[in-house]
Amino acid sequence: MKKILVSGGAGFIGSHLCTRLINEGHHVICLDNLFTGVETNIEHLKNNSHFEFVNHDVEFPYLIEGLDEIYNLACPASPIHYQYDAIKTIKTSVLGAINMLGLAKKTNAKILQASTSEVYGDPVVHPQVESYWGNVNPIGIRSCYDEGKRCSETLFMDYHRQNNIRIKIIRIFNTYGPRMLPNDGRVVSNFVVQALQNHDITIYGTGDQTRSFQYIDDLIEGMVRMMNTEDEFIGPVNLGNPNEFSILELAEKVIQLTGSKSKLVFKPLPHDDPKQRQPDITLAKEKLNWQPTIELGDGLQKIVEYFKEYRYRN
Ligand code: NAD
Ligand code: UDP
Repeated sequence: MKKILVSGGAGFIGSHLCTRLINEGHHVICLDNLFTGVETNIEHLKNNSHFEFVNHDVEFPYLIEGLDEIYNLACPASPIHYQYDAIKTIKTSVLGAINMLGLAKKTNAKILQASTSEVYGDPVVHPQVESYWGNVNPIGIRSCYDEGKRCSETLFMDYHRQNNIRIKIIRIFNTYGPRMLPNDGRVVSNFVVQALQNHDITIYGTGDQTRSFQYIDDLIEGMVRMMNTEDEFIGPVNLGNPNEFSILELAEKVIQLTGSKSKLVFKPLPHDDPKQRQPDITLAKEKLNWQPTIELGDGLQKIVEYFKEYRYRN
């Protein structure tokens, strides 16, 4: 049994990761300030004696003994949430990385950083390979998130080079699934919730921009495999589903799946919204023997079922 800390463990991805690690028989400490995470996401784990929830902000140091692994996920991920208090977002990314790396140094734990495809910004190399340095606006409204995550990667590499910390960096591409909040603001949850209520589906811009959508279970499998690789392999490694769709295609799929009467409405495209995004997953295939197994139609079906039930529970 390992003792594992998951920062951001009450969020969408974090709660699935905590569940997986508890099911594998580990002791899990979920560290979260409940900014975008909710206690209902981890309710099913609370009676387990090997699960601990600690309400803590990663901007401040956290001390504990005897850790084996740390997964650093604490950071709002949806544009509306990370732009709500941009300064707080950067502090969470940068000070959170410093505090979690400091903890890894003290306890000699291995530490994994949940980085993002946003480090590629509005990419001019397509699909995105890990060796691409990206095209990021340093002064725009997305910068608090993109640059915060880029700086975290730098910190991880420097702690590794200077202090021999065992690190892993993954770059997560758009991921969706149950436990996203209905008001999360990201495109899959927005469209599904809108379609289920027969409300207008909000397309930002023309809807020609693309994303590649990964189902949560595929990501969790890739994260755990990455943590378990030999110490020499630190990444960064892309984790995403390479099947690319335009936002209009996504809207059509959601309408078809839900049998919704929703109409499409077109809203202004937010500033710096990337035009295209698709992971090159050659490295993950080779090093993790991993590739996504759940296609968009099947994954959407699962999140549709979740939100249908969610409406009765809340
Ligand atoms: P989420 O908003 O559901 O989860 C983030 C969690 O971090 C929440 O529980 C929130 O309360 C917590 N948190 C935020 N600030 C904190 C702070 N200062 N101290 C302690 N906890 C704090 O988002 P998610 O989709 O689950 O994302 C999890 C991680 O994965 C994030 O780091 C995000 O950047 C990364 N990521 C996600 C995606 C995606 O598509 N979902 C893509 C790329 C990267
Ligand atoms: N988007 C949209 N309608 C929505 C929410 C998002 O058209 O209701 C678009 C958004 O402009 C972007 C894409 O969908 O082009 C993905 O947005 P999301 O916020 O999910 O992720 P990110 O932009 O961070 O990849």
